[in-house]
Amino acid sequence: MSSFQPEHSYRQLPPICYADCQPTPVKAPQFIAFNQALAAELVLPEAYWHSSAGLDLFSGNQLPTWTAPLAQAYAGHQFAHYVPRLGDGRAILLAEVRDSQGKRLDLQLKGAGQTPYSRRGDGRSPIGPVIREYLISEAMHALGVPTTRALAAVSTGEVVFRDEGLAGAILTRVASSHIRIGTLQFAASQSDSSVVKALADYVIERHYPTLTHAENPYRGLLHAVIAGQAALVAQWMSLGFIHGVMNTDNMLLSAETIDYGPCAFMEAYNAQQVFSYIDQQGRYAYKNQPAVAQWNLARLAEALLGLLAPDQAAAIELAMAELNQFPDIYQQQWLSRFAAKLGIANPVAEDRSLIEDFLNLLQDAAADFTLSFRDLLNADTPYLQQKIAVAPLQQWLARWQQRLASQQVAAHAIMAKANPVLIPRNHLIQQVIDETSDTGDLTLFNTLHKLWQDPFSATPENAPYQQPASAAQCVKQTFC
Ligand code: AMP
Ligand code: MG
Ligand code: MG
Repeated sequence: MSSFQPEHSYRQLPPICYADCQPTPVKAPQFIAFNQALAAELVLPEAYWHSSAGLDLFSGNQLPTWTAPLAQAYAGHQFAHYVPRLGDGRAILLAEVRDSQGKRLDLQLKGAGQTPYSRRGDGRSPIGPVIREYLISEAMHALGVPTTRALAAVSTGEVVFRDEGLAGAILTRVASSHIRIGTLQFAASQSDSSVVKALADYVIERHYPTLTHAENPYRGLLHAVIAGQAALVAQWMSLGFIHGVMNTDNMLLSAETIDYGPCAFMEAYNAQQVFSYIDQQGRYAYKNQPAVAQWNLARLAEALLGLLAPDQAAAIELAMAELNQFPDIYQQQWLSRFAAKLGIANPVAEDRSLIEDFLNLLQDAAADFTLSFRDLLNADTPYLQQKIAVAPLQQWLARWQQRLASQQVAAHAIMAKANPVLIPRNHLIQQVIDETSDTGDLTLFNTLHKLWQDPFSATPENAPYQQPASAAQCVKQTFC
């Protein structure tokens, strides 16, 4: 059993990369949620579990001596516009901790007050986004998607002013690190070129240590992030997940999902779907996600340019060679994810049209993405029969059956692991937020949190939460 030994390795970096800062105490903190399973993985001493010492820690009211709080500096392209100085405006890194496997993880408070990077922001978070992030990030983890995690959520007893006064809350986030493409952009924008080198070396050592001795570790880093993000976005696509705000400051070099602001899971399949109210042009629509990821990775390549090769022409050539691999890596990942949803063990290029034709049927019928794929596990496909016209459906099912007949492996087991029964549906999240904000009642929060930990089994208990929103319940826009 390893012991709890917090570290502060981010402080090895040049001082321009971060700023010391303290959380601002809050009036009356109370636990909304505490993730005991994750606390155990982190070997977090039980003195902090559901205790007043825990409330002091997770509210930032009184920090233990093993913390050394700081805010990280970063830049970023927001909706394609470069902002040279963003940084943690409402997040404070407390420490790095090792999980029981020895893996180093960041422990960060989000919503704990202003930092030197707050600009005009109040450093706070309303309870709604904290609940959304807690539930969705933990559901994503249970779905097998690399993601930041949620260790605790506390209400502050204070009001946060947005368009209206809202209850405030603080999330404790756990991540492999919070180093973003934007963090490297910030480092590369410094006149002192040793800053970007120090950060890139740090990222390699922390996330991709096998590259340390590679011939060109920085090219290796670029490649690893391209491959990791391609795989991540393909996995999002296979679950109907729409991130909603894929700015370069919201893409991690560890290739974990971060920033659950205006995200949402698609219900009726629509390749053009957008939920985020700030995304007026649909830049971050479902089908645009891979292209946006590639665009963001090109910004990463630019930031690494000075490290890739001694002269610029050679560096650009290397960067292009890596970036040009993104489409193939992504397509391969997409094919294997969607083929698994159809029970195909060893996909070939021709399977692509089988998948796309199914998606076209769903789009024409506005059929629920999650239910439709899951329904393929039922011999009589009752949901699809009800949604889709008989002739095109029978035709497609026959093609699919024929494809499955050509393989030795049983499709059922593959499909059962690739097609969840439960996703965090928007109207349920909204219902939790409404109930918690209005009455402080956490019953639905706890129910959904528990059920969403096991998204691949259909049970009588989770049956009511499998269904899409009714017209009256439907959430058309998300806000962060
Ligand atoms: P996001 O849109 O969540 O990716 O955040 C973009 C930038 O705005 C980041 O630098 C955040 O730290 C900052 N930010 C968001 N909300 C606040 C807030 N309430 N107070 C201060 N900074 C904020
Ligand atoms: Mg962000
Ligand atoms: Mg955000």
